[in-house]
Amino acid sequence: MTVELISVGTELLLGNIVNTNAAYLAEQCAMLGLSCFYQTVVGDNEERLTETLKTALERSDVILLSGGLGPTQDDLTKETAAEVLGRKLYMDESSKKRLQEFFARRKMEITENNWKQAMVPEGAIVLANENGTAPGIIMEEGGKRLILLPGPPGELIPMFESAVFPYLAKAQPGVIYSQTVKLCGIGESKAETMAADLIAKQKNPTIAPYAKVGEVHLRITAKASVEKEAKKLIKPVVKELKNRFGMSVYTTDERVTLEQAVVDLLLANHLTVTTAESCTGGLLSARLTSVPGVSEVFKSGQVTYSNKAKHKLLGVKKPSLDKYGAVSENVAKEMAKGAAAASKADVAVAITGIAGPDGGSSAKPVGLVYIACNVCGKTKVKSYHFSGNRSKVRENSVVAALTLMRQCILEYYSEVTFR
Ligand code: ATP
Ligand code: MG
Repeated sequence: MTVELISVGTELLLGNIVNTNAAYLAEQCAMLGLSCFYQTVVGDNEERLTETLKTALERSDVILLSGGLGPTQDDLTKETAAEVLGRKLYMDESSKKRLQEFFARRKMEITENNWKQAMVPEGAIVLANENGTAPGIIMEEGGKRLILLPGPPGELIPMFESAVFPYLAKAQPGVIYSQTVKLCGIGESKAETMAADLIAKQKNPTIAPYAKVGEVHLRITAKASVEKEAKKLIKPVVKELKNRFGMSVYTTDERVTLEQAVVDLLLANHLTVTTAESCTGGLLSARLTSVPGVSEVFKSGQVTYSNKAKHKLLGVKKPSLDKYGAVSENVAKEMAKGAAAASKADVAVAITGIAGPDGGSSAKPVGLVYIACNVCGKTKVKSYHFSGNRSKVRENSVVAALTLMRQCILEYYSEVTFR
């Protein structure tokens, strides 16, 4: 089955907003095993949207539209789509009721133009919007499927997950099942090269690499008549990927995040943890503490931004700060050791770097970050050269710290076991 995406909105054409809906929907379609051959962005213009829709209906089986379902004059996606399929609009009572309830709950007065959102095309499947006012719409016509979704990602994503994904999965013959092998501490191109032969010969299952910040996810998707069969097709591929990537695989469970994997590792080994952060300003401890159940292992986190704080709170030596500078291997190491000593935690991780845009030099450019990890008295320090703006450098630093923590704990325990 082929699918085509149409993103509606003049704001998108002007570059005022980034088309994250298209990225999300395309990824979901790949997961469903649908072939997406076209993506179009069209403004809030009836004529051009009509033309785009007609073309899409000629060449694709499923057309996913996003945006333009709201109450205002410029929102014309539904009206245009209904017109193209020759369907009339009528007031859908359940949507009307939902709309009334939505406004009542917020103690807001409903304005006349809002009723337009409860109008739906004849013969359409109406998708309730749990997070907004415009319902989603599915229209089936001559083997084609037209699916209209609200523009705000906070409304589109939950609606897609709860209603559209299962609808499309059912529309496909057989079942689609996928599993993700998540990697950290390895670059995208290296990961792709290492799996190149598997990717090249893929048919069923398929392997798709996705680059995340500091991570690579390999999604394996199989099509079969029943789920059990699909899982059977996936199993040997997951096994082979685990073999090839070894320690870089931190999970094969879709729901597990890197921070979750690190917390699980701490829990499994009865280790406590502390953080000492400079350029990330607490982002690492925020990420760790986002994991439920972290209180068993997380002792404390310090943001030691100034040299004075590094010295006073972590015991970093003044001569080290003077001689090597705050962004240095020595200071990172001393920060980790000091944090471990101050908190008595088993694992201490320290981050110091230049997030930019200012503060760089030729010897120490923006993006230079040192991360040290101390596990039960053993310290490892690594330097990194991240590219991108301030927030990218900080985000990368956090992922690198989580990766280093994981690596240090695993190494420490394999040494203990082999001793
Ligand atoms: P509303 O009821 O808010 O008017 P709508 O379904 O009419 O919703 P639009 O008016 O097209 O949708 O867009 C509303 C907002 O949704 C935009 O300002 C933007 O924040 C977000 N949005 C719309 N389309 C996209 C997109 N393709 N990617 C990311 N965000 C989007
Ligand atoms: Mg709108």
